Amino acid sequence: MQDYNRNFEQKIATFCQKSEPLTDDECKALGKKDEEIEVEKFITSNTQELGKDKWLCPLSGKKFKGPEFVRKHIQNKHEEKLQEVKKEVRLHLLHMLVVHSNTSIASMDLFTLFSTVLRFPFSTII
Ligand SMILES: [Zn+2]
Repeated sequence: MQDYNRNFEQKIATFCQKSEPLTDDECKALGKKDEEIEVEKFITSNTQELGKDKWLCPLSGKKFKGPEFVRKHIQNKHEEKLQEVKKEVRLHLLHMLVVHSNTSIASMDLFTLFSTVLRFPFSTII
């Protein structure tokens, strides 16, 4: 684990030395699996149709008259699940950054990525 941490720190350090900002295209490429898409998928997969005017939220077993009510319910009552989904996306992006740090996207600026694409401070995920 210590080795892993040291390795990780080295990779991060490499990023920090290369301070060229990301281009818009680079941001887009990296944001492919972005938060909004994954949150949307999560809501869709947790909106189950039981029959005419009967919709279910499997997370809590509550029933609703339409999918739009399930969506509102998930956004209001299962916000912590949505936060988890977002965190997954962030970790995935961080993973990609580390994995690809020696290859094609080596010139990107990690901090720019986290502030522009992910819109959150780097320190919140480590
Ligand atoms: Zn629910």
